[in-house]
Amino acid sequence: MSNTALPREAELRTWASRGIEVEGDVLLTRMPRLQAVVAGGEQPAFATLRCWKDEQHRCIVDVKVQMTLALECQRCLSHCELELVTQSSLCVVWNEDSTKQLPSGYDPLVAGDVSDLHALVEEELLLALPAVPMHDVGECEDVSRAFGDLAIEVDEEKESPFAALGALLTMPEAGDDKG
Ligand SMILES: [Zn+2]
Repeated sequence: MSNTALPREAELRTWASRGIEVEGDVLLTRMPRLQAVVAGGEQPAFATLRCWKDEQHRCIVDVKVQMTLALECQRCLSHCELELVTQSSLCVVWNEDSTKQLPSGYDPLVAGDVSDLHALVEEELLLALPAVPMHDVGECEDVSRAFGDLAIEVDEEKESPFAALGALLTMPEAGDDKG
């Protein structure tokens, strides 16, 4: 976490020429697509961007993002906290056609003159989200609750015949007392 907000906009090609590095926070409320699919996130995302040019004069942005999010566990439907940590090397390209010539290790970032860094961070986090978020087995509420319900049902079945018998035995005595 830092106390600095990540800049919203960047001219990444210029930044790459100058070797600019930035880091800062992005609030969940600045990432509406992410906010729509998670249960919450108390702390903002923390992102580090390092812009540079490789030997082929390509503009590269190394992005690291870290964020702890609350997701809905798909087993017990309560919230589970998950720390996402992402790391990518993005190559800034003008259009989809240019993405075919990229060497492996680079992911394409199709961008005009100005890029929205908050959207970039959001995209990184969306890609890192698990398809089926779940607690670890030991921490999942549903597992313990299922066993708990089972135990209660067994106890009730055992107790009920005795309770009925007890009621039958006490009834004549109650009658004798009155008579
Ligand atoms: Zn769970």
